[in-house]
Amino acid sequence: MLKRSSIPPYPNFYELLYTYATGVNPALNTRINEIFRQGHSPTVNLAEALYNEFLKSDLDERISAVSERMHARIEAVHDAIDSAMVTANAYSGSLQAARGDLEAEVTPEALKTMAERLLAETRRMQDTNRHLEMKLEASRDDIAALRRDLENVRRESLLDPLTKISNRKSFDEGLAAAISEARRDGLPLCLLLLDIDSFKKFNDTHGHQTGDQVLRLVAMTLKSNIKGKDLAARYGGEEFAAILPHTDLEGAVIAAENIRKAIQAKQLLKRSTNEKLGRITASFGVAMLRDDDTASSLIDRADRCLYAAKHAGRNRVVSESELANIEAA
Ligand code: GH3
Ligand code: MG
Ligand code: MG
Repeated sequence: MLKRSSIPPYPNFYELLYTYATGVNPALNTRINEIFRQGHSPTVNLAEALYNEFLKSDLDERISAVSERMHARIEAVHDAIDSAMVTANAYSGSLQAARGDLEAEVTPEALKTMAERLLAETRRMQDTNRHLEMKLEASRDDIAALRRDLENVRRESLLDPLTKISNRKSFDEGLAAAISEARRDGLPLCLLLLDIDSFKKFNDTHGHQTGDQVLRLVAMTLKSNIKGKDLAARYGGEEFAAILPHTDLEGAVIAAENIRKAIQAKQLLKRSTNEKLGRITASFGVAMLRDDDTASSLIDRADRCLYAAKHAGRNRVVSESELANIEAA
């Protein structure tokens, strides 16, 4: 795609297409699909703009830029309202004075002067109101843009920058939400934890950068082997998690087995040299939500299952139904 559009294969453009291909950022995909639908051919400028909008991860900087603009906007509206208030007060003062004047005998000449004065004041009042209206109109547009920016920042704050799947923060939120939903609907819920086997050795042998590629590959494999309402997340360094709503233990073990086989099946190639790097495997722990569980007790059980899987020789799935036997042995 990059080649066809004469866009240089810089890392940021590659990342943009990578994110598009994984579909982890639906807003980005919608936008790109829209661009294609309109028949526009992608350009470097467009790719750059999309990258800056969706992927550039200077979150703190962007959050403070947005809040600064928000602040300036609110100040401006305040000032406009203040000056409108001053004018309205003066206007009300003039009307009151005019009423006082009218209580005395007035000559037609004086009445005319008074009417002219009030007319001028009314015009001034109208001007101020128009000014306020313009300010508010500009604010409305600005605030809509700010809201879009904030939405992007928020979405990004929930993604792991390396793998572009949900990060720990969105995992925590997702698990809490999934637990309440499972309880409300009386449906089963499972948690799957996955840890790459002997990954330290892999890094030591092939380098951290290649290790990072493997993390991306595992994240993609995990994501592409779960269903729509499931949530895949990077839980920690080389540990991943999947929240599986509407899934009982048996179903979750099947899902874990599928993911395990899919990871094992990948023949790793070093990008730069095409050198074969062999295969990697992962171990899995699977637990199902109980009535008296908290998020942390559920995670703890899945973690114990994972530990048991490592202990039993790695590259395997252990569910909590086997845990009692293993831990007793
Ligand atoms: P085990 O089979 O028992 O899980 O062995 P392990 O070597 O995978 O486990 P250990 O916890 O000893 O080491 C985890 C390693 O994961 C350490 C570190 O090199 C690697 N790792 C963690 N985060 C990252 C990362 O972001 N990028 C890369 N490349 N490696 C990471
Ligand atoms: Mg680990
Ligand atoms: Mg490991």
